Amino acid sequence: MKYANSVLDLIGNTPLVKLNKVTAGLEATVLVKLEYLNPGGSAKDRIAVKMLDEAAREGKIKPGGTVVEPTSGNTGVAMAMVAQQRGYKCVFVVPDKVGVDKRAVLAAYGAEVVVTPTAVAADSPQSYYGVSDRLVTEIPGAYKPDQFSNPNGPLSHYETTGPEVWRDTEGKLTHFVAGVGTGGTITGTGRFLREVSAHRAEADGGEVQIIGADPEGSVYSGGTGRPYLVEGVGEDIWPDSYDPSVPHKIIAVSDNDAFAMTRRLAREEGLLVGGSSGMAVVAALEVAKGLGAGSVVVVLLPDSGRGYLGKIFDDAWMQSYGFLKVTDEPAIGDVLK
Ligand code: PMP
Repeated sequence: MKYANSVLDLIGNTPLVKLNKVTAGLEATVLVKLEYLNPGGSAKDRIAVKMLDEAAREGKIKPGGTVVEPTSGNTGVAMAMVAQQRGYKCVFVVPDKVGVDKRAVLAAYGAEVVVTPTAVAADSPQSYYGVSDRLVTEIPGAYKPDQFSNPNGPLSHYETTGPEVWRDTEGKLTHFVAGVGTGGTITGTGRFLREVSAHRAEADGGEVQIIGADPEGSVYSGGTGRPYLVEGVGEDIWPDSYDPSVPHKIIAVSDNDAFAMTRRLAREEGLLVGGSSGMAVVAALEVAKGLGAGSVVVVLLPDSGRGYLGKIFDDAWMQSYGFLKVTDEPAIGDVLK
């Protein structure tokens, strides 16, 4: 019989699939890593199990304890799943720009959700960082994993995501592209891939080039943290979970381009993914433009599009922000007109 002993054993080992349509005209091979196939639905499953199990090993949380975390949703889902398996309660603090669907998923796992305003400074007591800091001191037995400072976040990607990409491409990838939120994905995966390819011959591609994708306005690409709408990526502060020496390059992507590509991935590649995935693919195609046939670009797609049906995939929402230009192309939802 082939089965896993627990849902947590199904985390990781996500597949790579080649992009065939949105890459028209490009010579390089562009492969996407489907993190939405993790059991909690995102790349965050990897960091959640690593952070909570290390905390338990160090005695920072015990069965019956409470996990408190500021999270844009995916980390919450992942922690809620791990917490359920390990016997912890959960309280999550989310900014109000996070979709209702994502919040409902957290509640479905039995977690408590506290919503905070997006339009306040990061150091304000009302910010999602400020509120979670207060809750962790008020709730007895509470533990805040803090994905923005916890070294086990990047470490989980160093131990799993990086080796998987190297193994599945048989050491042939030349470029790795990922969006930057906490920076854990790019820091851990990028560090592993750089190390393992550091002495690879130039003829075989040399050192793997690590490219971060960032929303226009975020600090990683030189912005000040101006609000953008793509969720899960970009920052207005520099967190410890991000090591800026790992990426060779950061590419800024507008919300408009990220969302347009997110919709194309569903319609042209059959990949229903979130806005940060579209953003990463925009950056990857920009990189791939200058590359020849021997190049292999791997792009990490962090989550599914299901949490964004009322936003990126909703024509009225897109038009309200001026994203969806009126064209002759039929829009989603126009089928019956
Ligand atoms: N995309 C989404 C949807 C996310 O939730 C996150 C995590 N914040 C990221 C991308 C970025 O990943 P990381 O935090 O590892 O930089």
